[in-house]
Amino acid sequence: MRVLLLNPPGERTYIRDYFCSKTTKSNYLFHPIDLVVLSGTLAEHHDALVLDCMAERLAPGPAHDRIAALAPDVIVSLVGSVSWNEDRVFLAAEAHRGRRVLALGDILHERSEARLAEEPWLEAALHVFANADVVHYLAGRRERIEDMTVRDATGAPERLQRVERAHRKGSYRVPRPRHELFPQRGYRFSFARSRRFATVLTDYGCPYPCTFCVIGTLGFQTRPIEDVLEEIDALRAGGTREIFFMDQTFGVVRARGRELCAALEQRGDLSWTAFTRPDTATDEMLAAMARAGCHTVIMGVESADDAILATYKKGYRASAVSGAFLRAKRHGLRTVGTFIVGLPEETEDSLAATLDLAMELDMDFMSLNVAVPRFGTPFRERALALGLADPDDLVMDQGGAEAFLPTKTLDKEAMLALKRRMVRRFYLRPRYLWKRLRSVGSLHELRAQVTEGFALLKRNA
Ligand code: SF4
Repeated sequence: MRVLLLNPPGERTYIRDYFCSKTTKSNYLFHPIDLVVLSGTLAEHHDALVLDCMAERLAPGPAHDRIAALAPDVIVSLVGSVSWNEDRVFLAAEAHRGRRVLALGDILHERSEARLAEEPWLEAALHVFANADVVHYLAGRRERIEDMTVRDATGAPERLQRVERAHRKGSYRVPRPRHELFPQRGYRFSFARSRRFATVLTDYGCPYPCTFCVIGTLGFQTRPIEDVLEEIDALRAGGTREIFFMDQTFGVVRARGRELCAALEQRGDLSWTAFTRPDTATDEMLAAMARAGCHTVIMGVESADDAILATYKKGYRASAVSGAFLRAKRHGLRTVGTFIVGLPEETEDSLAATLDLAMELDMDFMSLNVAVPRFGTPFRERALALGLADPDDLVMDQGGAEAFLPTKTLDKEAMLALKRRMVRRFYLRPRYLWKRLRSVGSLHELRAQVTEGFALLKRNA
């Protein structure tokens, strides 16, 4: 079959991946990891095609024309809660033109039977992208599907779940993702040291239980290192040396992390960015990462408020964070701190303390995510129980263009204004701007950082 992996068009730049959709916070756009992983799985059995309307900045009309020219038998599309109203119109039109449409994304992560019942254009929903479910489904082998919502012989939605998400563990194998099918231009990431970069996943899910995060609900599985190296060597052979590892905590299984770093170090020509956690960023791991070509680490700080960290099961106290940032600096790594703002317990004081902490940590970049009650998370249940969220409100964005939830003490407008002020106060410090300028190593970096910086400040004006 001709199977098209589709990232649909939209009015804004949407990032719909890993069951978390959002608008881009500055101007970045990396490869949609779900489709990257599925490209290998599908290419083994079908004629796999890719159309990323976000990277190609395609409007709906030209996107429909491109799909018509590609003439797929089946479309496997990303969908997102952030863009749901647009996605459903676009994909319904494709179904109307006779295409079979399967989809995956956060909006289908919870109550998927209800979504299928409401959306007749949607043939089935995938709930895992790092397995062979799509291939089994297209071959009619329903008995081998691990986790999908499909339709029975009468067209009624039917949930097939043989492996509970939270219980996924051990290792998984997927055929080499076909990066070469994705556009060569259109992806942008200011932490990357060169324009050309690839997005790679070496594990799936996350072993931690932070209750606001959907990835912690997916279980945790790792790929064999030789499979990861096969993928990376294919990228190197094609001229790509810059990698963004999408693993949520790089090297969380220490021995495996060290082994992977040693293999990357041996190659000697890679340069990369990865996520880690302050409590796993040991000297040993950071040193191994730096030797292997890592130049930037993104660490979840979340909040300066220990009560908030404890309520949402972050697993460390704010005081544990500073050591990790110091260690990263000692190993010559650039640091990005990510935060979640606007949880129900957030106050003006806790936001002020969080900003102070971000400045004290002397991080290179601060990334603020606005709390949203993501489908399938314990936080969603809590926000609904507190009456802060409406269960029928399906469209949400953690990118920070809008505030989605009030807190117990701040309404949405106040929350958004405080968040915007935090961004301006962090980035518009003369000392910070001077440091940024001095640290730029190439024309590409200068261009990317200026573009993303302006986009971020415009959004938080
Ligand atoms: S916030 Fe990070 S560490 Fe916590 S569950 Fe999500 S991915 Fe894992």
